[in-house]
Amino acid sequence: MTTAEPVTRTSPYQHYVYAYPHKTAYRPLPDRPLLAELWASEPKDALSLYLHIPFCEVRCGFCNLFTRIGAPDGLTGAYLDALERQATAVRDALGEGARFATAAFGGGTPTFLTAAELERLCDIAEHRMGADLRAVPLSVEASPATATADRLAVLADRGATRLSLGVQSFVDAEARAAVRPQRRADVEAALGRVREARIPVLNIDLIYGIDGQTEQSWLHSLDAALTWRPEELYLYPLYVRPLTGLGRRHPAPGPRTGGDPAWDERRLTLYRAGRDHLLARGYTQHSMRMFRRADAPPQGADDYACQTDGMIGLGCGARSYTSGLHYSFDYAVDMHQIRGIIDDYVAGDAAGFARAQVGYPMSPAEARRRHLLQSLLQADGLRPDDYRDRFGSAPADDFGPELERFADRGWLTDADPTALRLTPEGLAHSDAVGPELFSPAVRTAMAAYERK
Ligand code: SF4
Repeated sequence: MTTAEPVTRTSPYQHYVYAYPHKTAYRPLPDRPLLAELWASEPKDALSLYLHIPFCEVRCGFCNLFTRIGAPDGLTGAYLDALERQATAVRDALGEGARFATAAFGGGTPTFLTAAELERLCDIAEHRMGADLRAVPLSVEASPATATADRLAVLADRGATRLSLGVQSFVDAEARAAVRPQRRADVEAALGRVREARIPVLNIDLIYGIDGQTEQSWLHSLDAALTWRPEELYLYPLYVRPLTGLGRRHPAPGPRTGGDPAWDERRLTLYRAGRDHLLARGYTQHSMRMFRRADAPPQGADDYACQTDGMIGLGCGARSYTSGLHYSFDYAVDMHQIRGIIDDYVAGDAAGFARAQVGYPMSPAEARRRHLLQSLLQADGLRPDDYRDRFGSAPADDFGPELERFADRGWLTDADPTALRLTPEGLAHSDAVGPELFSPAVRTAMAAYERK
């Protein structure tokens, strides 16, 4: 493969592809298919289980996840009631033989729930869904303020193997600028509690590209995180997305809403500085965002392995994947809309939970695309032999023009004949590589999505 300088500038920050297709490509399913039919002939011996808790104490300025601020009296209890109804309906639809190989609680902020509510959440996963939480990797997201000793004790006791703490910055002024107001002292205290809880893997999320952040203050945040010897670190570029707190502050086409070469360059510089800092301190890079301490205990299956496995998402906003359909509930970013969707979910009955509501059909061509995309965005890349075993063709047969384009930009390496891998610069441009692999149909659906 050839390497050359890019002919035209491609913004490195187009879209964070954590799942393909994105939920904005999902549409209401007119026939609302029965889950029992969707899952009837699917492999179910190594499913992933995900439970979504759509509540947070604050709405961070950069966040477009499906979550609301706070919960009026009784809403979390009513939400868990609905989750239990949904779990019962989904488990019935899966039938005998369903086994879970991984579990995760995400959001939102799962630790927005009280310790007693977290016990109930674990009970739903275990007793309703049949997941053996103490036997599989269980990952939980938390915020510093809600990572209290009693909640962490419940999670550790129930088998949590990974606790991910959204810190974003150890500099108070930067946390405020990202509309994630918190004091460093509180963050440090939370990290101390997580370590005392002895959950094997601590992940810390940090963001670069915040207003006022310099290379020096970025490395200062990284060093503050490294003091805790986290097993994992996720470094996220700041995005300013429509309808978020920062998006309202910088309405399109403002200087922070994409397509700003100077800001792109600043984020790239901070990314490279952060990456090199971690690589020099015993971390290995697994994707553009993900770094793992070289001597950290293995975590079992990660996102990468989920390309081939089925996923059961429970809770409002959670996605589920069969080989032929990705499905979920309605999606929104605007707070008012989210509240309405959660209220509808809480009122849901067993008959409704037994059917898929919105989704995207996965054709064989889309499945190939998804496999390529999700493998290529990992530092280990894609093994053409695996691809051929699964699809009967070579990646270059199916995606020749796209791969040639990446090679021409110097984003693909041919150093390893057994893997199709991004170069360090390719990895730095992951958020441009991913969107270029979206199919025309997914692109059209995403473009037609009316943001709400
Ligand atoms: S970033 Fe996390 S804590 Fe902040 S609003 Fe989003 S889900 Fe909640």
